Amino acid sequence: MIPPSARSRAALGLTASAALGRFELQICSACAAVQYPARETCHRCLSGSLHWREQPGTGELIADTIVRHSNDMYFQERLPWRLGLVRLDAGPTAVVHLHGGCAPAPSRVRVAARLDKSGHGVLLAFPIDEVPNMADDRQLREMTCDPQRRRVLVTDGKTAVGQAVVHALIAAGADLVWVGYAEPWKESAEFAALGALSRAALLPLDLTNAQSVKKVAAEIGGDVDILINTAEVHRACGIASPSGDEAARSEMDVNYFGLLRLAQEFAPAMRYRGADGESSATAWVNLLSVYALSNFPAHGTYSASKAAALSLAQCLRAEMRSAGVRVINIFPGPIEDEWNQMLPPPKMTPAALARAVVKALQDGVEDVYPGDVAQEWFTRWRENPKVLEKELSAG
Ligand SMILES: [Zn+2]
Repeated sequence: MIPPSARSRAALGLTASAALGRFELQICSACAAVQYPARETCHRCLSGSLHWREQPGTGELIADTIVRHSNDMYFQERLPWRLGLVRLDAGPTAVVHLHGGCAPAPSRVRVAARLDKSGHGVLLAFPIDEVPNMADDRQLREMTCDPQRRRVLVTDGKTAVGQAVVHALIAAGADLVWVGYAEPWKESAEFAALGALSRAALLPLDLTNAQSVKKVAAEIGGDVDILINTAEVHRACGIASPSGDEAARSEMDVNYFGLLRLAQEFAPAMRYRGADGESSATAWVNLLSVYALSNFPAHGTYSASKAAALSLAQCLRAEMRSAGVRVINIFPGPIEDEWNQMLPPPKMTPAALARAVVKALQDGVEDVYPGDVAQEWFTRWRENPKVLEKELSAG
C-alpha cells in the first residue's frame, strides 16, 4: 500500500531533486518569481522559461492540523497524521507534512523535500533547531530507511568497503547485520573481527552461484529489512586485457549477474513485506560506480559492468515501487582499495563511503554521488555527457 502517486510531468521535477536529497522549486528566468506547485508557465508573467533551483526552505508555519480521517487507504492505516501550511521566505505557501518536533503555528520551520513510500517527492517541515531523536519521528520514518532497529544483509564482508559498511550500520543502531562472504580460504584479521561483533552474523554467500543465493534467501530472505549489495569485482583494464575476456566475464558475473541473482531470490520476499508497518522491508542498496554514467577507459570493462548493473537497478526500482521498498544507488568515484592503486588521489576511504551509505538510508534518497570526485563527474555529466565522454577518452 503506497500513498497517491499520480504526478504531472512538471511535478516530477520535485521528485527528481528529492531523489538526490535536494529541495528545489522552479524559478522564472523572466521575473524571478518562485513557483509552487510546479507548473508549465510562470504564475506571475506566464513565461515558459522555468528552471529548478535549490531552496533554503525556511519559512513560517502559519497553520497546523492533525488529520484523523482519510479516504486514502495508505493514510487510513497511519492516522493520526500532522499537516501544516508554510509560507516560505522565498514566496509561495505550501501544504506540508509536519515533523513532530515542530512547535504549533505560528513558528519558524525549515521545509525539505523527501521521497514518500511511492517514491515521489513531498514536502516535509522540520523544526529549525535539532530536537532529540529527530530521526525517530513516525511520519519521517515513513519516508526514510533508517537502519536503526532494522535487520540488514551486507552481501560481501570480505572487502574493506563491506567491512566498513557493517561497522557503520552497527554504529547506526541496526538490530542485526548478516554478513555474506565468498572465497572462505581468503582470510583477514578485519573479516575475522566482524565475526566477534555481537550484532553481526557471518554466512556463506556466493553471488556467482545461483544455488548459494537461493539457499541464503530461503534461510533469511523473509527477515531482511535492508539489503546492501557490496559485492563487486574490479579489474583495472580496458578492452585489450592480457587475459582475454576473463576479467570482463568475472566482473559481469558478480557486478551484473550477481545483482540479477540476488534480485530474483530476495526481491519477492522484500516486496511482500514492504507494507509490514514498523518492521517492514524498506530498502535495497546497490554499490555502483560513477563510471556507470560514462565509461572510464582505463577501467573500461568494469565501467561496462557497472553500466549494466545501473540499468538493472532501474528495473528493480520500478518493480519494487508498488511495494514501497526504496532502491538506492551509490555512485562513488575511486575508492582507496587495491584496484585503484595506480590512480592519483583524491580517493574515497571505505569508512567515508560507508558513512555515505548509512546517510542515504537515513535521508531516504535514491541516488548518491559521495565525495568530491563523484560530485564533480556527476555535475559534468549533467551539464553535457558528450563533453565528459570526450574528456575521459583523452585520458
Ligand atoms: Zn515570471
